[in-house]
Amino acid sequence: MDTPVSPTVACIGGGQLGRMLGLAGLPLGIRMEFVDPVDGAPAGAIGPLHLGELDERGVIGPCVERATVVTYEWEGVPAEIVSWIEEMRTPPVFPPAAALRASQDRLHEKTLFRQLGVGTPDFLPVDSPADLDDAIAKLGTPAVLKTRRGGYDGKGQFVLRVAADASTAWAALGGVPLILEAFVPFDRELSILAVRGRDGATECWPVIENHHAEGMLRVSNAPAPGLTPERQRAAEAIANRMLDELLYVGVLAIELFDVGGRLLANEMAPRVHNSGHWTIEGSVTSQFENHLRAVLGWPLGSTESRGVSTMLNCIGVLPAPADVLTIPGAHLHDYGKSARHARKLGHVTVVADDAATLRERVERVLAILPADG
Ligand code: AMP
Repeated sequence: MDTPVSPTVACIGGGQLGRMLGLAGLPLGIRMEFVDPVDGAPAGAIGPLHLGELDERGVIGPCVERATVVTYEWEGVPAEIVSWIEEMRTPPVFPPAAALRASQDRLHEKTLFRQLGVGTPDFLPVDSPADLDDAIAKLGTPAVLKTRRGGYDGKGQFVLRVAADASTAWAALGGVPLILEAFVPFDRELSILAVRGRDGATECWPVIENHHAEGMLRVSNAPAPGLTPERQRAAEAIANRMLDELLYVGVLAIELFDVGGRLLANEMAPRVHNSGHWTIEGSVTSQFENHLRAVLGWPLGSTESRGVSTMLNCIGVLPAPADVLTIPGAHLHDYGKSARHARKLGHVTVVADDAATLRERVERVLAILPADG
């Protein structure tokens, strides 16, 4: 019998998501290579890190030639490079460039949600001060003005409390294509992570509850407390519609607003996602392993959760490992990045069999997590 050849996955981007993909691949015999502009990027600890811009064909091309399959770990990767690899036909690249393109422009993204019958905050494109006045007249206030492209972690956004805020909002963001969204008085923020294989099989993890501060994810609880089977089914329907529409392969994350029990889609990320880090310890198969299984055309693993989990991001500063590891059920992930204010340096996932034990353990972790200076 022939010995199976270990596959090589080329990954555009070498941040912490690439690093965790690489870690998930190691026991399965998957080699990974990464392209990133930053010397010492986190994924370099796992496999060869080729220094280059994320659309630098001279660096990416040779990496692609060696690869069994190509993927990426950031939605800011220029879509043109993914289309370029798609046009080569071999090796394949997943998720498809169409998904990346849709996620990179809030107007296209929300239009696509709407076309698929998925509820989304009301929105209108804004390209001039007159458009903004029109949009405010139609959508009312409060409203959120956002750049169509390039916004992340709450950047590129302005909340208009009243119509008179229009000129300040335009001064802050104007000059690039914008979108105005009705402000959604949501009860909480949720996300659904789903994976689709090359054979079209899909799996969804339980819906996750997310808490943000200053535009950055701080805490994820999974499964979302109080999650009803109906809400889970509604979120899965949204994810499955998008996966099938895009003939998607890999993990897809969709951020949702829960408004009185109704789910509205805010945005999607065509990659593994921060709100899915708990799956490493809290799920039978992690988002990272399932992403690799999907892009390689391997069978997907079960997305069932093991007990209940809370993931806490370590932003700006990491706790002392021994302080975390003394707490039962607590798992520390250090991304190997240098400390900087407001930078995601790692995370702690806490798992337990029941909600009361989880709460008690999370309290202990919160007590030893240093504040970002
Ligand atoms: P985004 O970059 O679209 O994920 O927005 C960052 C954060 O801003 C979200 O996680 C929400 O907390 C908030 N936000 C974004 N859009 C809206 C909206 N239309 N209504 C209310 N809050 C919003």
